[in-house]
Amino acid sequence: MAERLSQGFLDRIIAATDTVSVIGRYTALKRRGNRFVGLCPFHKEKTPSFTVDPDRGLYYCFGCHAGGSIFNFLMEKEGLTFYQAVENLARAAGIEVPRLEGGGDRTDGLYEAAEFSAKFFRKALKADMGRSAREYILRRGISYETADKYELGWGPADRNHILKSIDKAGLGAEPFIEIDVVGESSGRRYCKINEALVFPISTSSGKIVAFAYRKIENDPNYTGPKYINSSDNKIYHKSSILYGLPQARSSIRSSGKSVLVEGYFDVIALAEKGITNAVACCGTALTSEQANLLARFGPKTVMLYDGDSAGLRATLRSIEILLSSGLDVYVVRLPEDEDPDSYVMAHGGEALGEIIDNAPEWFDWLYKHVRAKSDGSGIAVATEIVDEMAVPLASISDEMKRNLYIRELSKRLGTAEESLRDHLRKAYRKQRRHSDYEDKKPQVEDLSDEGKIELSLLALIVALKKPVELEENPLKLYPGLWNMANDGASPSEMLSEITDERARGYLSEALMNASESDENGIGVLLFKLLQKEADRINDLLSKLEGLGNDDEEGTRLLRERSEVMRKIQDIRKIYIR
Ligand SMILES: [Zn+2]
Repeated sequence: MAERLSQGFLDRIIAATDTVSVIGRYTALKRRGNRFVGLCPFHKEKTPSFTVDPDRGLYYCFGCHAGGSIFNFLMEKEGLTFYQAVENLARAAGIEVPRLEGGGDRTDGLYEAAEFSAKFFRKALKADMGRSAREYILRRGISYETADKYELGWGPADRNHILKSIDKAGLGAEPFIEIDVVGESSGRRYCKINEALVFPISTSSGKIVAFAYRKIENDPNYTGPKYINSSDNKIYHKSSILYGLPQARSSIRSSGKSVLVEGYFDVIALAEKGITNAVACCGTALTSEQANLLARFGPKTVMLYDGDSAGLRATLRSIEILLSSGLDVYVVRLPEDEDPDSYVMAHGGEALGEIIDNAPEWFDWLYKHVRAKSDGSGIAVATEIVDEMAVPLASISDEMKRNLYIRELSKRLGTAEESLRDHLRKAYRKQRRHSDYEDKKPQVEDLSDEGKIELSLLALIVALKKPVELEENPLKLYPGLWNMANDGASPSEMLSEITDERARGYLSEALMNASESDENGIGVLLFKLLQKEADRINDLLSKLEGLGNDDEEGTRLLRERSEVMRKIQDIRKIYIR
C-alpha cells in the first residue's frame, strides 16, 4: 500500500472488531483452542482447513494458502480496496478514519469511471442515437421502467463520443481503460462498447463495477460472442458477483428464495413479468463464492437454467456448489428449446411463477433424471443413481440433512443404509480423485526458499516483538519490510504492505505459527538466510572455476564469501548458545 495509516491505527480497529463474527458471515467457525476453524470460503473443501486467529485479526487456509488480515479478507470477499475495508470496519467499530491525501485509495477513480460510463450509456439510450436499441428492448417485451431499473444503456456508434464527455468532465482516461470501457491501440483511444446494448454489473450493494454488452445490429460480418463482459480489474471480480442482486436482494430476503438463471436478459425478462428475485451468474460458470453470496440473502434457491443440453450440464454441475453453501436447492427444467426469457414471454409470469413455486427438490429431480435417462434396469440403474448422487450428497455440510437424504435414498433403492454409505463413499472417491485438487491453487509452492525464509523471519520478529540489530538489512526479496518489522509493526500492518497473494498467504501462515517460545528461531532463520547466500556464492565460484580463471571476479567473490562467513559467525555468537 502506497498510503500509510498511522501506526497502531489498524490495531485499534482489530481490537474493536469481532473478527470471528465478521468472517463468520461467510463460513461457520468453531472454536479450537484460541483459534477458530471452519470450511474455507476461498476454495471448496469437506474438512475445515481455514483458521482464524481472532487476537491478531488473521486468517489462513492450509488447503489453498489464502491468508491475510481481516482487511485482506474483506478486500477479497467484498471486492473492496484496502482503504474501504479499513473504513468499513472502523465505521462498524465507531472509530473515525483519518482522511488520506488523494483519498488514500488507488481505486477511487475506478468506481467513478464506472458510474460515469453507466450514466453516459443510459443517456445515449434515451437520446436519438439510441432509437434502434429502444425498439429492440420493446421488441423483447421489456418496458422502459424495467430497463431503467436495471440501468440499461447504449454504446453509440461513434467510438469517440465517450472520450469527448470524459474530457469535458475534466476526468482522465486511465481509469476508463482500467475498467475496460476505453481501449487503446497504437496510441489511439476508443470506446470498446459500440453499437451494443449495455448491462451495468454491480456489487451486491449496488456499486457499478463493470459492464456486459450485447451487439444488436444485424451485422452479417459480426461473428464474435453474443455477450461480451468486462475483464476483471481491481474493483471487479467476475467470480464473486451475481448479476441483478442489488435489484433482487430485498425480494430474496422477504421470500427467503432466489431464482438462479444464466443470462442477463433472463433476469430482466423475469423482473418484467413480476418475478423479482432472479439473479444470474454471468460470464462464468457458477462459483462457490457466488453460491456463498446467494446464501447470505435467502436459504432457498431455484435453479432455472436454459432448456438445452448445455443448461442441463450446468445444472448438474451447479447443484453440489449450491449445496455446499448450505442452500436448499430446487430445480426447474424448461423444454429443450426454451430459456427463462423466452418461456416467461410466451407463457407469462404467473405460469412460470407457479412452476418455480412447485419446483422439486434437487434430490427428487436428480433421482428421476438419472432414472429417466438410464437405459439399464434394476441394479444397473441403482448403481448409476448412487454414482450421480454421491458428490451432491457429500456436499451437504449439515449432517442431519445429509443423513435424512441417505436414509431416503436407501429406502427408494431398497438397500441397507450401511451398504449404501459404503457405495456412496466409493463413488465419491472415484469422482473426486481429480477434481478435489483442481480448485486448489498451488500458490505457496511458487515462492523461493529465500522468500519463505525471509517471510518466516519477519513473522517471528513481529510475533516476538523483538527487534533484530544488524549492521545491514539481511533481506534481499522483502527489504522494505525489514525496518517495519523491527519498528514494531503489527501483523495486519505487515500484511497490508504485501500485494502478492502467495507471499501474503505465506506470511499469514508464518504469523500464525510463530510461537513466542521460539527464541532461537530468529537466529536459525538468519543463519539459514546467510547460508543460502554462501551457497549462491560457492555456486558462482565453482562455475567460475569451470570457465577457467578470472582473477578479478574470483577475488571479489571470495571476499564476499568471507564477509558472509563473518556474519554467520556473528549470528552464531548472538543467537545460538
Ligand atoms: Zn482455502
